[in-house]
Amino acid sequence: MKRRTKIVCTLGPAVDSKEKIAALIEAGMNVARLNCSHGTWETREKWIQWIRELNTDISPVAILVDLQGPKFRVGDIAGGQIELTVGQTVTVGRGPEIEIPILQDEILKVMAAHGRLLLGDGEIELRILSGADGEFKAKVVTGGILRSKKGVTLVGKVFDVPALTVKDIEDVQEAVKHAPDFIALSYVKHAADIRELRRTIDRLDKSIQICAKIETREAIKDLDNILKVVDIVMVARGDMGLQMDIEDVPLMQKRIISQCTNAGKPVITATQMLESMIANPRPTRAEATDIANAVLDGTDALMLSAETASGAYPIECVKTMVRIAEKAEGHFDSSGVEKAFHERLKHGVSHTDAIAHAVSDLASLIKPHAILTITTSGQTSRLVSKFRPKAPILCGTSSRRTLGQMAIVWGVEAIHIPVASTTEDTIHNAIDEFFRHRRVKHKDMLIITAGVPSGVPGNTNLIQTEIVK
Ligand code: PGA
Ligand code: MN
Repeated sequence: MKRRTKIVCTLGPAVDSKEKIAALIEAGMNVARLNCSHGTWETREKWIQWIRELNTDISPVAILVDLQGPKFRVGDIAGGQIELTVGQTVTVGRGPEIEIPILQDEILKVMAAHGRLLLGDGEIELRILSGADGEFKAKVVTGGILRSKKGVTLVGKVFDVPALTVKDIEDVQEAVKHAPDFIALSYVKHAADIRELRRTIDRLDKSIQICAKIETREAIKDLDNILKVVDIVMVARGDMGLQMDIEDVPLMQKRIISQCTNAGKPVITATQMLESMIANPRPTRAEATDIANAVLDGTDALMLSAETASGAYPIECVKTMVRIAEKAEGHFDSSGVEKAFHERLKHGVSHTDAIAHAVSDLASLIKPHAILTITTSGQTSRLVSKFRPKAPILCGTSSRRTLGQMAIVWGVEAIHIPVASTTEDTIHNAIDEFFRHRRVKHKDMLIITAGVPSGVPGNTNLIQTEIVK
């Protein structure tokens, strides 16, 4: 694998066949995102089965189940859609003959005159003129065609909603039956929301990792605490762009990615990365630049949403993203990560963090063919990855779970290995496996890091170099 940045593809009607999913994998998909906002579990089950059938031993494609969370949507519009022109007055809310139905109490409760309603991805804006008791008149500020079931939010309002909706809990219960690698929580506000999901999942399957989608102002304020309890993070730029001023989004992206890097947590940059390719075979210059910039910011993974789920060029999108990411990742400036590591040293750095730093430091000096990490929890590989070494990062793990979860971590190629009774034998099992898959060859020099005794999480304490024989 030449490319190091990981790619998350949202599945949907545009790729609804085993051949198309095989083509996505071939093009470079590392993680398949199943979006609970659309579709049914029947379809998702079928996709999961196809992916499992198509998966190979090395770096298998992981499954991320994305919970809808308390997202508000307009109801069914008469005729399926309505054209809104600037200056026009429309009726909004709940009741007979309402043109734009909005049914949820939580949003109706905070709706009042002067409120700004954003629809879809924010491309349509209405201003509430008057009304009460769920029935309102609004004026169109920015027009467009509004379809049934599009998103709706009120700018600057905090809704009184639970972290997990009834639908989310049902989706978690369905999800765990298929042992996904990750479950993502939408509209996270505080670390407590993650803990709540953790309690729900832990009763069913402790080993699933949680992804916090950062898209509210509250989450950005509480990010330090969220990072203590979450496994991975998504910069969810779609809703972030509705919840705060659009000019804040690029800076928030940089801040979130850098905080994730310092916390050793993988991070996904999401939404509208190749938006124009939903309808066109080629990206815009701005999109190419956006992808490259996310890579240079230090993102582990890039995400495609409607581009692969419902666009006209799903496979081309992945190929385009691969090319742009590959070009950019060679130019990553790791001095920021280095500086942050030395900052952390002042407060005492974790044992595994120090080993990971030493490994990547050694790699920059002796330029091995690969760095081989032997890990149970995956933490060593995640931390080595944060220093963005030039050498491939190979991960040998006896945990099927960790094997899947490495799919989101920058630059890591993972393989399952049997645990042997000695660390030396475990290391040789890993070298044999990677040799069989032609990831290492005769006479290659490797830097190996592992824990003695093997199989115990969090005890990385060995660094050695070895020539493949
Ligand atoms: P969504 O999340 O597509 O589920 O809304 C991503 C985002 O908000 O950017
Ligand atoms: Mn969102």
